[in-house]
Amino acid sequence: MTRKQTAARVLVVEDERDIAALVSFHLTREGYRVRTAESGREALDALHAERPDLMLLDLMLPGFSGYEVLGEVRRRAETADLPVIVLTARRDEADRVRGLELGADDYITKPFSPRELVLRIAAVLRRVQAPPVSATGRVLQAGPLAVDGDAMRVLVGGREVELTPTEYRLLISLLERRGRVQTRQQLLESAWGIHARIETRTVDMHVQRLRNKLGVGAPMIETVRGFGYRFRAREEEP
Ligand code: CA
Repeated sequence: MTRKQTAARVLVVEDERDIAALVSFHLTREGYRVRTAESGREALDALHAERPDLMLLDLMLPGFSGYEVLGEVRRRAETADLPVIVLTARRDEADRVRGLELGADDYITKPFSPRELVLRIAAVLRRVQAPPVSATGRVLQAGPLAVDGDAMRVLVGGREVELTPTEYRLLISLLERRGRVQTRQQLLESAWGIHARIETRTVDMHVQRLRNKLGVGAPMIETVRGFGYRFRAREEEP
């Protein structure tokens, strides 16, 4: 973990005190500066007092719900780009999808391990601090994949694979927002262009072809059921 990340401030919004205490304990041990809020109202006040680097938001809050907090955070100009990870119940796919639709950067399902929590937070922070792939002008390594953004070449385990321009753009779209779930619609817009008159299932077909070509690198692209796709975060590399 870098020094920059060690000093990062995390606002934990959770009404269940034992969970909030557990999360605080692990994050503090990792060097994060942690504040907690027990309600949506308290969370918005805390955000106003001092903007954190990331908010961990439980969706199940009494009164002012996590959804409402997230909606308000995205509406306010000063927090519109605040990284937010939502906490959802394990079985509740609808909650997760709704959280992502409202602009959450990632989600963690309960019950979660402290290690998973720490990795996810580090991944989101790293992502917001990292320059986009296309702007770096160097070879980017991701697991067994190496992507040369200048030459538009992709290597898997040192061997070059031939991608179509669409497959290449799709890979870059996923890679540029590494660790972040993207909807099929978002991928359509970034890889095909916003006005593309094609259906979202076309994305599934292309992702499948891309995975076939990537071979051992295929698991780097994960399917997020009911939502879209996600390129594995650096911390999750095999
Ligand atoms: Ca709760």
